[in-house]
Amino acid sequence: MALTLFNTLGRTLQPFEPLKPGKVGFYGCGPTVYNYAHIGNLRAYVLHDILVRTLHRAGFEVTHVMNITDVGHLSGDNDEGDDKMLKSAEARGKTVWEVADMYTQRFFQDTERLNIQKPRVICKATEHIADMIALIKRIEERGFTYLAAGNLYFDITKFSSYGELGRLRLEDQKAGARIGVDKNKRNPQDFVLWFTKSKFENQAMVWDSPWGRGYPGWHIECSAMSIKYLGETFDIHAGGIDHVPIHHTNEIAQSEAATGKHPWVRYWVHNEFLVLDKGKMSKSTGGFLTLQTLMDAGYDPLDYRYFLLGAHYRSQVQFSYEALTGARNARKSLMDRIRERVKALGRGFLELRNKPLPRSFTEGKAGTYLAAFNAALDDDLATPRGLAELWGILRDPAVSAQDALLGACAMDEILGLNLAEGAETLVPVESPALRDSIEALITERAAAKKARDFARADHIRQTLKEQGIILEDRPTETVWRRG
Ligand code: AMP
Ligand code: ZN
Repeated sequence: MALTLFNTLGRTLQPFEPLKPGKVGFYGCGPTVYNYAHIGNLRAYVLHDILVRTLHRAGFEVTHVMNITDVGHLSGDNDEGDDKMLKSAEARGKTVWEVADMYTQRFFQDTERLNIQKPRVICKATEHIADMIALIKRIEERGFTYLAAGNLYFDITKFSSYGELGRLRLEDQKAGARIGVDKNKRNPQDFVLWFTKSKFENQAMVWDSPWGRGYPGWHIECSAMSIKYLGETFDIHAGGIDHVPIHHTNEIAQSEAATGKHPWVRYWVHNEFLVLDKGKMSKSTGGFLTLQTLMDAGYDPLDYRYFLLGAHYRSQVQFSYEALTGARNARKSLMDRIRERVKALGRGFLELRNKPLPRSFTEGKAGTYLAAFNAALDDDLATPRGLAELWGILRDPAVSAQDALLGACAMDEILGLNLAEGAETLVPVESPALRDSIEALITERAAAKKARDFARADHIRQTLKEQGIILEDRPTETVWRRG
């Protein structure tokens, strides 16, 4: 079965067909680095990871691009409120650049802990200002902009399909437009491409531009960087569901206005929110949980990954420590089952790893579990069903220990729960470094015996014994084995 994705553009499940055979261009909106990522943000990146891994398994070469928003994101997505970076820097007594660096590092520490593979291209907004200016110039040349009070705006009435992604009804929005909306905007949904005058007199990050010294609007960075790395039309764009009505809607408007090509992005994939008992989790209001909070409470980051995989990415998930404990117990029980099988197979397991699955596997019962797993992931990344197949193969007494392990490891290439790595560490395998150090101690012991330093020789034997290594003296040599 081919991969099917729910495309927000059209709101239907659609078979995935890449623009270029065998290749996929994928852009996922990255973090705004003015604070720690909260566990809701991390849900978005676990989804991107599952998507990329699934595409790889299907044989695609994926160019995954992620931006780092280190300039220009105001607390309201629609150009209102405070500058997130500036406010955070002021509160912490640091420069905006220091804040950006610190939280970028912390972000990647979190994603690594969650076993999220690094995107091929990671691009900072501040390093792509020239690309943004070039793109804004194209939009301006094609007549989609106006200058008002020093800022350059995008006029949404010039873009006839504005709001198609979010199925926005502009009339409703106009009627409900909030007070306090920027008076310079001709339409409430118009948005800033370039700020020169704003309420932030002391804006730290400013650049020269044809419209004056200033800084870019938030949305333009994603258009400029995705076009730069993936071309004027590309395959998949992802982000949280909150981005549908404003950020992604505006990204589409400005990208297609600049290039004249439609569609700019062929598949839009949006994750639903993770919410707390009390409601929405928000990075800017401060009341949020980080991965570190969960770790401090004694959970492994992969418990959280397991928790997330237990829900479909298009369902809203309510976070609770109770549910996280459930995930931790489930993961532990999975590892227990893996441990039993590894015990049964010993080193034989390692010999099988990294080889194509044997015919006995693919044609037997185990093969049906893996096929069902792959079908679940191909069906709009249905990870809960995928997990059920993982449990199935590990519970089924009709599946041999070897096949259960092989199947679990194959599934884990997508689930990313470190089952394979966990299984390998359970095998009594001697690393080359360990082997070398044992051999060196055996040589040293032989020399000590020759020099009649029996105390030293016995000490070496005892030290190794404590590490579970037994020495056996044979007539011509000393050999070792695990005790
Ligand atoms: P930000 O760093 O605020 O730009 O957000 C990073 C990503 O997290 C975006 O794709 C957001 O749509 C997504 N996001 C924000 N809050 C949540 C949440 N509570 N649950 C799931 N995704 C979220
Ligand atoms: Zn974006």
